[in-house]
Amino acid sequence: MENFLLDNEDILFHLENMDIDRIITQKEDNFKDAKEYSYAPVDIADAKDSYKKVLSIIGEISGENLAPLAAEIDEEGVKLVDGEVQYAKGTRKMLDMFAKADLMGFSFPRKYNGLNFPSIMLSVAAEIVSRADGSFLNFGLNQDIGETINKFASDKQKQEVLPLLASGELGCSMILTEPDAGSDLQAVNLRAHQSASGQWFLNGVKRFITNGNGEIGLVLARSEDGQTGARGLSFFLYRRDEHMVIRRLEHKLGIHGSPTCELQFNNAPVTLVGERKRGLSKYTMWLMNSARLGIAGQALGIAESAYREADKYAGERIQFGKPVREFPPVFEMLTEMKVSIEASRTLLYETARFVDLKEGLEEMQERYPDRKAEFKTDLKRYSRLSSLFTPIVKAFNTEMANKVAYDAIQIHGGTGYMQEFGVERHYRDARITNIYEGTTQLQVVAAIGGVTSGTAISIMDEYEG
Ligand SMILES: Cc1cc2nc3c(=O)[nH]c(=O)nc-3n(C[C@H](O)[C@H](O)[C@H](O)COP(=O)(O)OP(=O)(O)OC[C@H]3O[C@@H](n4cnc5c(N)ncnc54)[C@H](O)[C@@H]3O)c2cc1C
Repeated sequence: MENFLLDNEDILFHLENMDIDRIITQKEDNFKDAKEYSYAPVDIADAKDSYKKVLSIIGEISGENLAPLAAEIDEEGVKLVDGEVQYAKGTRKMLDMFAKADLMGFSFPRKYNGLNFPSIMLSVAAEIVSRADGSFLNFGLNQDIGETINKFASDKQKQEVLPLLASGELGCSMILTEPDAGSDLQAVNLRAHQSASGQWFLNGVKRFITNGNGEIGLVLARSEDGQTGARGLSFFLYRRDEHMVIRRLEHKLGIHGSPTCELQFNNAPVTLVGERKRGLSKYTMWLMNSARLGIAGQALGIAESAYREADKYAGERIQFGKPVREFPPVFEMLTEMKVSIEASRTLLYETARFVDLKEGLEEMQERYPDRKAEFKTDLKRYSRLSSLFTPIVKAFNTEMANKVAYDAIQIHGGTGYMQEFGVERHYRDARITNIYEGTTQLQVVAAIGGVTSGTAISIMDEYEG
């Protein structure tokens, strides 16, 4: 029985040794959910036990069911038929399986039928799923959109949407990019206007939208006439109806199982999320940072799969009378792959830990406003560390995955260039990870403040000390 959690000693080592007690305490707030939900943990040990059990289920589904379908999903791809997206058969089947296993609300609060798991566990899950199929992460276990709704939307918006995302009945997308607004989202031009009754409507085109066929979208749009730049942008919750048309699907190098859509909004009714004018500076930035951790996990999973295939092949392929693994240049490539994968995993979990601590502290401040001062110093620390580490892990892990997939083909020689082996697919799938959710160059822009302000050097000193 294949289990992508239980066959990975490095992940198991991390799970045993992670410093997550404080994260659990903050997340579970005195374990009060245990009174209401039979599956909520009663203490720290119980929470850790339930993390491992659920991850093991994901490991089994990924190893036994998803991985064997990955090549077929890649081959079949997605289609646009009469204006509607059709997934590959394997994708459809696996979405149903994940939904039936109650995994689609992995990080949502229990009151919205979620599991209330922290980001650090989502990072583990993201890797495991992506090891099976890089494209599947983009909808199965795509929690960032729901998490953003949970953090910033009104109670009414949350109640309408989150339980349906958690049950897998609805799909979702983040709708930011436009033909003239890619890395530079300040240039977004899709219009939002308000009628006399106060109803908001969207008009314009968005492109490159992953899962843009989903029923729920978070849309960045220009709400303030005459105001250029970020200050003119707000954030909207869109529920799909006949006022949005999927104009085309992109034909891509990789992640063929994941639809990338061009969308035309024709007076589509939407509701405002949070405050006007903070669409980019607050809500989109939070959403993208959260998604960047997911992509770092996706890249790691693709790399892990490429490494394992290369390692296996190097042991079986005989040239000059011995397995090619025994030739120093091949052995060195394998060693570098393994070391860089393990470094990326450590970096990812450390980043997710900072993010969880920061988010937990913000929640504590909201729950206990009279204790705000108590959390202030730590909140500042973990906010700074999250802002520094998130772009670093996105850049490091995704560039790492590209290098590992490249070397995995090299180790296979000519065979690696052929479609029969998974490494050719991993090479194509890895290529998007350092482009979407902000290119590596933009991650450098995002990280530079934390480097020049001294946050980077002080955390390095702490690690050394
Ligand atoms: C398969 C796929 C799925 C996607 N899914 C989504 C989605 O779900 N939702 C969504 O909103 N968008 C999505 N995108 C869009 C994606 O986020 C953008 O493509 C990406 O952010 C880069 O923007 P761009 O393509 O316009 O490149 P550009 O911004 O035009 O960049 C071109 C080059 O210039 C460099 N560059 C640009 N600005 C700077 C700078 N300031 N400093 C240094 N270098 C710079 C870039 O690094 C890049 O090398 C997706 C894209 C793809 C290909």
